[in-house]
Amino acid sequence: MNNIIIDLHSHSHYSDGVLSPAALLKLAKNQGCEVFALTDHDSTDGLAEAQIEADKLEVKLVCGVEISALWANMTIHIVGLNIDKNNPILQAGLQKHQDFRRLRGEKIARALGGAGVVDALAKTQSIAKTDMLTRTHFAQMLIAEGVCKDMKTVFKRFMSGKKPGSVKGKWADYDEVIGWIHSAGGQAVLAHPLRYRMTNTKIKRLLADLSNCGCDGLEVVTGSSSTAEIALSDKWANEFNLLASAGSDYHGWQNQRIQIARLQALPNPKKAIWSDW
Ligand code: AMP
Ligand code: MN
Ligand code: MN
Ligand code: MN
Repeated sequence: MNNIIIDLHSHSHYSDGVLSPAALLKLAKNQGCEVFALTDHDSTDGLAEAQIEADKLEVKLVCGVEISALWANMTIHIVGLNIDKNNPILQAGLQKHQDFRRLRGEKIARALGGAGVVDALAKTQSIAKTDMLTRTHFAQMLIAEGVCKDMKTVFKRFMSGKKPGSVKGKWADYDEVIGWIHSAGGQAVLAHPLRYRMTNTKIKRLLADLSNCGCDGLEVVTGSSSTAEIALSDKWANEFNLLASAGSDYHGWQNQRIQIARLQALPNPKKAIWSDW
């Protein structure tokens, strides 16, 4: 399974991706992908459609989800792989996150209203394909309205720090989220470790806490990782006894260099999370 073409992190329009699950699978297949995980934010709703297309294309679909979680008052993302999407504990947890997203969407819209953007909620809902709202949808709306020119500007001006879009996350704690994933028979993986911009001491505390409560893996390779970042993440995986995962985090947005199923190799393939699948 060394040279298998695999991608274990991606988004469809069931969360903040652009493409349908079927279109994502077609694209992955065109890139030669053999094993592919759909991991929408806090939702498994796209998996049924993904499975139908995966069967047609003879791609092995890994049922996944990317769950927002709190650690030390910060939001982190934990990917669940090979989950049973019908598990009631997992679904009850995801439902809570979806409810929070709805409430948060209303708050973000109100704050944007205060900043002079009218009808922010309705405009954002008309952009989203489902009733799942992410900050990315608000960002797309602000770009469409000509308020900002691109994603980078919009996140900086409106969606982070003390800005309107940055409503404090009321996600479940990391240990609870890992529990949901394990209840559903899946493996839990910390997504994109270098994107949290933590100090070295802090990320190591996070990895120790995750490892201690049974987290299975670390995303060692992402679609935007440099060789140095991969080496560092691999070192952490070893140090904290985590298996290595690899996923592009493809969203299908324009002006993104990230490609689906085009990932650098793991430094240590023996420790791949898929090695015993
Ligand atoms: P949410 O889960 O609704 O808070 O939205 C988080 C999503 O916004 C992430 O999954 C990313 O896809 C996207 N995102 C976060 N920060 C940025 C950024 N600086 N630029 C572009 N997209 C971002
Ligand atoms: Mn996203
Ligand atoms: Mn993420
Ligand atoms: Mn993601």
